[in-house]
Amino acid sequence: MTVDAHPETLEFKAEVSQVLDLVIRSLYSNKEIFLRELISNASDAAEKLRFEALTDEQLFEDDPQLRVRVLVDKEAGTVTVSDNGIGLSRQEIIDTIGSIASSGTRRFVASMQAAQAAGGEETATPTPDQALIGQFGVGFYSAFIVADRVTLISRRAGLTPEHGVHWSSDGQGSYSLETVLKPGRGTDVILHLKEDEREFLDPWRLRSIIGKFSDHIAIPIEMAREDDADADKDKEDKEPAFEQVNRGTALWMRSKSDLADEDYQAFYKHLSHDFDEPLAWVHNRVEGTNEYTALLYVPKRAPWDLWDRDQRHGVKLYVRRVFVMDEADKLVPHYLRFVKGVVDSDDLPLNVSREILQHNRKIDSIRGANVKRILGLLEGIAKDEPEQYQTFWKEFGRVLKEGPAEDYANRERIGGLLRFASTANDDDAQTVSLDTYIERMREGQTHIYFITADSPAAARHSPHLEVFRKKGVEVLLLSDRVDEWLVSNLHEYQGKHLQSVTKGELDLGNLADQEEKQKTEQAAKEHEGLLKRLQESLGERVQEVRASTRLVDSPACIVVGAHDMSANLARVLKAVGQDAPATRPILELNLEHPLVRRLEAETDANRFADLGLILFDQAQLAEGGQLDDPAAFVGRLNDLMLKLFMSGG
Ligand code: ADP
Repeated sequence: MTVDAHPETLEFKAEVSQVLDLVIRSLYSNKEIFLRELISNASDAAEKLRFEALTDEQLFEDDPQLRVRVLVDKEAGTVTVSDNGIGLSRQEIIDTIGSIASSGTRRFVASMQAAQAAGGEETATPTPDQALIGQFGVGFYSAFIVADRVTLISRRAGLTPEHGVHWSSDGQGSYSLETVLKPGRGTDVILHLKEDEREFLDPWRLRSIIGKFSDHIAIPIEMAREDDADADKDKEDKEPAFEQVNRGTALWMRSKSDLADEDYQAFYKHLSHDFDEPLAWVHNRVEGTNEYTALLYVPKRAPWDLWDRDQRHGVKLYVRRVFVMDEADKLVPHYLRFVKGVVDSDDLPLNVSREILQHNRKIDSIRGANVKRILGLLEGIAKDEPEQYQTFWKEFGRVLKEGPAEDYANRERIGGLLRFASTANDDDAQTVSLDTYIERMREGQTHIYFITADSPAAARHSPHLEVFRKKGVEVLLLSDRVDEWLVSNLHEYQGKHLQSVTKGELDLGNLADQEEKQKTEQAAKEHEGLLKRLQESLGERVQEVRASTRLVDSPACIVVGAHDMSANLARVLKAVGQDAPATRPILELNLEHPLVRRLEAETDANRFADLGLILFDQAQLAEGGQLDDPAAFVGRLNDLMLKLFMSGG
């Protein structure tokens, strides 16, 4: 039979060769992981076939026994990872193996280079760039750590033998592609080992790596029997006898008491392509009307694409040990999208589709239970290992803050896991929990006070905090973008109202002493004229000008009405290109402040207007706002300064 070979040479897409270069350099100290990565891909391919064959048995081609084989050819200097899984068509090879052209590639390469520039020495523990590679998952390309040429021969299950594809590359920017005959379905990845990597031709070395990394993969991994391997060498036509070298039972089906931490960790690496250990995991078997097993991991580090809109979820769905679906986003909610793991259901139908998952009671109940398990796991870490919890919080805190909005029913529990920066600490680290805050509340204090701003410094130095500082009342400092979203969905915690210090009349509850209150009221009455005059002069710019009880050192500040959108949220919305309703702010004056007194004494109407505007603009700047007309502000200020100098001040 003649086969139209279509030989061609193609360039890698995107910055593949750059990525390859970085992969090889930074993973070198860990080079044996190439085998784990290739076996992971091979077993995934086998599981995908098993799933597709459920609806199309032909795909098995009379060979239903799925397996992965690792073959050594000492003479040729090659190691081959061979699977009889789903295989790849020509186009699939171009799209997957020939490109890492996902939207994030450029960003990934940039962050890798930044990490390298910052000095990533080769050490036993993963360097920052190693971890980054793990997050990116360059699985297949890890072959180039030990090989100077990689050949992949594949045929998609269901296509005829003449649709085999031969792919080959030295990892230097291009690859060749050719159509070949391939009788068996699936994929052979042939590594032509570099001269100094011949240690991997030793079958015992390979067996020990498989034992270390791939023992708990459910698909059998086979190698030639050692006593047979040599004897059969001359008989080219006879296959050597194979034996299974991994345990080959799905790890999650084994009982907890049989499993050591190392087993869980190795399985996590297989599952997630992460090079780091997981932070924690939960493993549960649920019996009853909805029987399933869940093994869920919390990683140590955020994946590089955590904030991508189409970020992949990490929980795989199995039905009675058959892999059904990757990235099953219905098994954990979006705010727990960093969780990796496996759910294996005994009760779902095997032909379950994403649509079915949308409205399935069993799935809903699994998701609900998963949420409780993960929250429970995090609560345990927060309580027993606060330092670990900080690691978690730094990586995933901003994701968890989406929780109260998405998962209203669990908002109280999520609330307990939140951590904030606070005026009680000198640094901006997010370490204070709402429970800690409540414990430290002053006598008579009924609210949890917070401020939102667009930077930690703007929050910490806002004039709104002056009275709180004076009274020794703690205020939480919120400056992540998601914080506005959080506080608009979390109004209460442990029965305590969360109160913005920049909104509405300042309600200090029983913290305000009566005497002070009367004093302010008295002052407001006395200076009513000033307040009115200024309000008229500022006109449409403000809703109201009133006396403040918030200020100690500053002359004025901006607040919004109790039910208006906070100025910070309006800025956030503007920054992401959304319309924010125009709300007019309230200007509050510190009637004791010398500048305000001076303003009151001003008789020249123009001067009064100028000074009033300067106060108003300053108040906006002090809380991180932007002026509509900054040049006018500068002009007014300069005028004032000139007058001051001319009068010899
Ligand atoms: P990842 O596995 O993280 O997606 P890889 O570079 O390891 O990244 O693999 C890229 C893709 O190539 C896989 O998602 C899969 O679609 C395909 N692939 C790799 N190896 C095989 C294989 N042995 N059989 C079938 N498809 C494979």
